[in-house]
Amino acid sequence: MRSGGRRAAPGRLTRVNLLPLAPRGQTPVRALTIAGTDSGGGAGIQADSRTMAMCGVHACVAVAAVTVQNSLGVSGFHEIPPETVAAQVRCVVEDIGVSAAKTGMLASTAIIESVAQVCTEVGIGHGHAIPLVVDPVCASMHGDPLLHAEALDAVRTVLIPLATVVTPNLDEIRLITGIDVVDDSTARRAAEALHALGAQWSIVKGGHLRTSPESTDLLFDGDRFLEFTSPRIDTGNDHGGGDTLAAAIASALAHGRSVPDAVAFAKEWVTRCLEWSYDLGGGHGPVNPLWRLQS
Ligand code: PLP
Repeated sequence: MRSGGRRAAPGRLTRVNLLPLAPRGQTPVRALTIAGTDSGGGAGIQADSRTMAMCGVHACVAVAAVTVQNSLGVSGFHEIPPETVAAQVRCVVEDIGVSAAKTGMLASTAIIESVAQVCTEVGIGHGHAIPLVVDPVCASMHGDPLLHAEALDAVRTVLIPLATVVTPNLDEIRLITGIDVVDDSTARRAAEALHALGAQWSIVKGGHLRTSPESTDLLFDGDRFLEFTSPRIDTGNDHGGGDTLAAAIASALAHGRSVPDAVAFAKEWVTRCLEWSYDLGGGHGPVNPLWRLQS
């Protein structure tokens, strides 16, 4: 029996202001994802690369972990040696050059520390020239761990301070800040707590707050709260949604957009990807950025 997927009802599609594709023969802008792979092809580096490609961005990839997973869950993962993760970042930036970067699953304290060190060295992250979107991936939607519990401290003290934008989901916010987001006031408190950890901008995503008929993401820079609202798409096929949002933000930043503009774009993008999601395997199907090829 299927445990996850429920097809989104066909209907009017939300509007998306697309990012431009590079003309033939012209080198696209580049972005780097530092993350884990998904053997099921729905989340992680596979999701990031697809969204970046569909947003006119050449995706460079630093693999931090290889997961063993399908639509039913993650049954294990293999960590890449921290120095190899850092070496991938360094060699890409030195030769190809990137105008934005994104972190996803980093698995361990040692990998987080190695990534933070190389990002600082090559000029990626808060306070440097190249913006960094930090998606502090802790677990899959099935609850399978993607980060060792002992690494939460490094997420708080090493990774988040490097974030131009940090994009946790509600479970990750609970683990990182101890705040249970249930309404607007707890969402604001969580955004403030994430910002206090050192992120330049924090996002509190409302997608998992299923009591609301809409999905509102809250963006905070220590001063202003900005809200981005989209219709809630009724589907269980939302695997890779968080990665896709963060990769779309990184793509828009690579195109030179401001953080609020990048988040506004990414919200539209992920909503359309949810509208085009599909059944896959016996569990949760993926969001689908390939809609751009067909519409
Ligand atoms: N696998 C990898 C490698 C990921 O990076 C992520 C999310 O960031 C997931 C799985 C989980 O995705 P979801 O929560 O959409 O199932």
